[in-house]
Amino acid sequence: TSAPVTAISALETIAKRNPALNAFASHITLAEIGSSETSDGPLKEWPIAVKANITTTLPSATSCASRALDTYTSPYQASVVDSLEGAGAVVVGKTNMDEFGMGSKNMFSMYGAAINPHTPSSGAKRKDMAESDHRTPGGSSGGSAAAVAAGMCRAALGSDTGGSVRLPAAWCGVVGFKPTFGRISRHGLVAYGSSLDIIGIITRNVADVQSVFSVAAVPDPLDMTCMSSPLRARIKALADSRSWITQVRGRSETESAPLAGIRVGIPEEYWVNELSVPALESWKAGASRLAALGCDVVSVALPHTPSALPAYYTLAWAEASSNLARYDGIRYGRRSTTPPDTRDLQNASQKYANTRSENFGAEVQRRILLGTYVMSSAASEHYFTPSQKIRRLIQEEFDRVFALPNALSMTNPLTPPTSRPPGVDVLLFPTATGAAPRLGDQEDSRVANYVNDVMTVPASLAGIPAISIPVGHTDGMPLGLQLAAQYGDDELLLRVACHL
Ligand code: GLN
Repeated sequence: TSAPVTAISALETIAKRNPALNAFASHITLAEIGSSETSDGPLKEWPIAVKANITTTLPSATSCASRALDTYTSPYQASVVDSLEGAGAVVVGKTNMDEFGMGSKNMFSMYGAAINPHTPSSGAKRKDMAESDHRTPGGSSGGSAAAVAAGMCRAALGSDTGGSVRLPAAWCGVVGFKPTFGRISRHGLVAYGSSLDIIGIITRNVADVQSVFSVAAVPDPLDMTCMSSPLRARIKALADSRSWITQVRGRSETESAPLAGIRVGIPEEYWVNELSVPALESWKAGASRLAALGCDVVSVALPHTPSALPAYYTLAWAEASSNLARYDGIRYGRRSTTPPDTRDLQNASQKYANTRSENFGAEVQRRILLGTYVMSSAASEHYFTPSQKIRRLIQEEFDRVFALPNALSMTNPLTPPTSRPPGVDVLLFPTATGAAPRLGDQEDSRVANYVNDVMTVPASLAGIPAISIPVGHTDGMPLGLQLAAQYGDDELLLRVACHL
């Protein structure tokens, strides 16, 4: 609706708004923009912001918002940033986040909290607001979502391990897309939970997501988890073989029912106790809208959904404890100055411990400790192994509700279904249980913070694509609805999302 953000207008807006919003950890200047040549391409002169856990060759740090890495500059740039720059985009800065991606409110950051650009309509104007009345932008990619919402960039990259792109997008009233695991290279993304981490895209509208995604979703020999060209071709062939969708596409654009033929599933299990009335209302409104556009809206069951959150927090922390072992003060980042003499082993290990105790924040330390515990021989059979099993059940459950088979479980050659099988094409459910909470509420129960992720972690465990779309407000604060689709069915997901 509003004019696209240009590089110059982005920097002017950053100068005006970033001091209050704290969305950027660092950004370039007007002079730097003037001196850089941009490539010709579909993203020509798009100002983009990059989360502080994705490497860039900007002189500013890829700090992950951690003291442990506050001066760390990467010798190389993430492949996805190379792709976007190759298409003409200009990286305007690195965005604020929860330390190493661990959090849901962008409050665990060495830069301090980022602030949501939206203010409740019933409250005082921002400048008269007490600091504790400010709303969180969500996390962990809070800076990226706030930057897009405030017009400080046209698109932003975030990372999403269990919802970190979708939740802040919902709370800031913008679009947040988590593609299928493997569609976008992660070379240059600092690892949190490697089996879950993906790079996602935050923009104001779905069309802009599509522009960025078509440039970003390419094979990369530097990331062995990035889909190869043959796998991409297989997935596309499978998706295009769906007669019930491809047939309607031809006549769809001109008719009043542009989504005819698409079946939308409403998973009952997302109607959780914590769901607020406004979130429920927007869910109903979204379902009615898709029905009016020609979709067949049906109820589906995903009975293992309640187990997703504990399984996610077990697996993500276990992987984090292993991934973060590399921050030992020797290979990267800050090193403790005590004890000064490390010739004997006792002192050397004390220095290692001090380095980690002094430089990791409390939340990161908590997760490393618990992650180490759940993988210990005594605890793994009670926590780690059952969580892996739950993950498998959740994946199988999604495979059962989607009409499209999972390309990973199909044998070659493909034998696509000829008539519409039972099952749905997309799922519709809320992104969060309500609108953005106050920053001042941040010290309430720790578990309550984790509960925010109830809606987002199942898609992460299954590696399937999901997108959060803004749908209305409550008391002036945005609400988001989520669409999810079968593994590899990103294009259909985006097509439906355009209409929501
Ligand atoms: N809030 C979740 C966590 O803290 C998700 C974070 C993320 O996706 N990076 O783990």
